[in-house]
Amino acid sequence: MLTAHHILLDGWSVPLLSGELFALYDADGDESVLPPVPPYRDYLAWLAAQDQAEAIDAWRNCLAELNGPTLVAPDLGAHRDGDSAGGESALPGMLVETLPVDLTRSVVARARSLGLTMSSVVNACWGLVLGQLTGRDDVVFGGTVSGRPPELPGAERMIGLFINTQPVRVRLAGGTPVREVVRSLQDRQAELVPYQYLGLSEIQRSVGSGVLFDTMAVFENYPLDAENLERAAAGLGAVSGGTVDATHYALSLAATLRGDTCTVRLDHLNDAFGAADAERILARFVRALAAFAAAPERPVGTIDLLAPDERALVLTEFNSTDTARTDANVVELFAAQARRTPEALAVITDERTLTYAELDAASDRLAGELTGRGAGPERLVAVALPRSADLVTGLLAVLKSGAGYAPIDPAQPAARIAALLADLAPELVLTSAATADARPELGDRPVLADRPETWRDEPVRRHPVGPDNVAYVIYTSGSTGRPKGVVVTHAGLANQLRWLAAAHPVGPDDVVLARTAVTFDAAGWELWLPLLNGAAVALAPAEVGREGADLVAFVERVGVTVAQFPPSLLAALPAPSGQHRLARVFAGGEALPVALARDVARDWGVRVVNLYGPTETTIQVTSMTWTPDDPEPRTVPIGRPVAGTRIYVLDAALRPVPVGVSGEIYIAGAQLARGYLGRAGLSAERFVANPFGPPGSRLYRTGDLGSWRRDGALRFQGRGDDQVKVRGFRIELGEVAAVVADHPDVDRAAAVVREDVPGLRRLSPTRWPGRAARRRPRTSWSTPAASRPSSWCRPRWWFSTRCR
Ligand code: AMP
Ligand code: MG
Repeated sequence: MLTAHHILLDGWSVPLLSGELFALYDADGDESVLPPVPPYRDYLAWLAAQDQAEAIDAWRNCLAELNGPTLVAPDLGAHRDGDSAGGESALPGMLVETLPVDLTRSVVARARSLGLTMSSVVNACWGLVLGQLTGRDDVVFGGTVSGRPPELPGAERMIGLFINTQPVRVRLAGGTPVREVVRSLQDRQAELVPYQYLGLSEIQRSVGSGVLFDTMAVFENYPLDAENLERAAAGLGAVSGGTVDATHYALSLAATLRGDTCTVRLDHLNDAFGAADAERILARFVRALAAFAAAPERPVGTIDLLAPDERALVLTEFNSTDTARTDANVVELFAAQARRTPEALAVITDERTLTYAELDAASDRLAGELTGRGAGPERLVAVALPRSADLVTGLLAVLKSGAGYAPIDPAQPAARIAALLADLAPELVLTSAATADARPELGDRPVLADRPETWRDEPVRRHPVGPDNVAYVIYTSGSTGRPKGVVVTHAGLANQLRWLAAAHPVGPDDVVLARTAVTFDAAGWELWLPLLNGAAVALAPAEVGREGADLVAFVERVGVTVAQFPPSLLAALPAPSGQHRLARVFAGGEALPVALARDVARDWGVRVVNLYGPTETTIQVTSMTWTPDDPEPRTVPIGRPVAGTRIYVLDAALRPVPVGVSGEIYIAGAQLARGYLGRAGLSAERFVANPFGPPGSRLYRTGDLGSWRRDGALRFQGRGDDQVKVRGFRIELGEVAAVVADHPDVDRAAAVVREDVPGLRRLSPTRWPGRAARRRPRTSWSTPAASRPSSWCRPRWWFSTRCR
């Protein structure tokens, strides 16, 4: 057995060393039989004579504009710090497979006919696998080079450490034929051959990066002369051999080819990838080789690396939510409930209460006034009411009139209200007498919800309302400086409410807290879920909604059983101290930390449910009830899709990504909004054709990143763009920057979220990107495009130290 530290010799040296050993043995230890070998010192002298600056330039060039490292296990360092690194568990697992001879022959033949080396093919196919694992179309991994310069005489016969690990970059822009990916990789690698002596840390330093990759791939072609070894010395020879080594990369791929036998070996750090993961990854690599051999002209973006069962799992099994879409209508469902429980409490506020019968009658009368003044299907009624029982009556009345409601916060600045009204072009504005006086921008003929004496007492004119008619319009931040109105349908709302009633039922014993401002879509379920199911809505006054202790006191006082809070508010609430009836707490709108879910479940004695959903897909599209045995360490998953909704996690080429891999979250099904009001272009950008559904169906592209867990729960992994959440508010930093940049005294503007006090996130205008920020802030720039100097583009963390 031969044991050596790598610093003494590399793989190439091993057969040389064994050959010399055998020769010595044969000659009874007489060194003179060995041919003279140039000393290692010659190599060092050669190295010292190389032009460092030129090599650095070549590598800079190779890695120019690389947008970040390629890490398949970015958390590995963190995990390992906690473990007892070293020891048995740190030994990597190993998987070895011999490819079918047919496949090997066809890959070799294809490569040869195209003038490509097997090494380039192996590297490019590994690039494809990495692209999928990391969601990148420009990847880097480590490649081992022999480091034996041909111009150094005898280099091939020297024993020592010559190998070097250098970045291999593979560009995978979706439309490029796989053949061209291999070719351009081969050409670039050839250009770099003269610079293989530059060490990895020098390369990283020269491009100003840290770690560039955490995987390796190598096509091994040592001059291992097995036959010669077998009869090396008289009567002695090697019968078989093997090497044991340990990689420190998360994944290391090695391929060897001898004749028609191609062997691939994948070493994997078990902390990052278990044996089953490694098997799936190796199978994807083999599928990439097969795709190259079968159709080298095929664009890389169309190559599907998933096994059929992996594909079915993420596309179908995780989405087995199909229930026929309901075309029920919220108005009819409420009417039926009012007939069932006319005397039950429907609305509770600090000032008054309404029974179902009272709410039904009051909203009927108001609906009569609204229809008398032109409200009806496909018309909009802007609702600018303070938080009061009239608000609930008003929203219901608008729906009864057949129109859609568009909530407007009367406390917002006049310019904002005016802009929203201009965008909405509502048929009517519904407000209160006091608000109408205070806010002239609401127009001169609003309907006054609190002045029934001004109404004409007409019966509701009922126009048929269909499932695709607008139920409401909610505005969300728009990245170009202009908010966008999401047009939500009756079908969307009814499907959401049917799922909620089935998954999280409420009944006559329940009191549901309505705390969310009605300008947010999440307020919708706080109102409609109870009102369609015989429970009461407890409407918290606006001031109470903001103050922790008051809010909890309100919850206790009115006997709330079900409540919803964004996690940032939940974290600031004191646990109810007195008698409370709270049984279920829903968190949503932002990532829910596991520690918070655990504390609330324990201290409040409630069930904690994480809800996720963009306004564009009607309130919530996934849910997950947190349980103490859930293995997730930091953030509660957002869970599984709701009834009638399907979720896809896709890469940039709209291919489904496998379990555990990050992609963008896309949503399909009955809850999709119609689009953005009056913004056909923007709607087409975000609501795209659904390649997995029936013809004509659409997908909403969320901009959220997520990954599937093996049990089908979806993890939320942040945003792929500059949208942020601050205390549950959805904000496009671009909107803020654009508005600030509009000011005549401002040339350019950036908006960032700062967290100077941990847990306290604020939007901040800043003069220069992240000057005082401790962490890399999310930044959005706005400056007139024409005056934008080229060095003044969106900050890239990569080569820029300025923004860190
Ligand atoms: P909104 O349209 O205001 O409901 O905001 C939707 C966005 O909020 C989503 O696209 C996510 O970025 C974020 N979001 C909503 N719910 C959650 C959740 N449970 N966990 C993490 N992020 C969430
Ligand atoms: Mg939401």
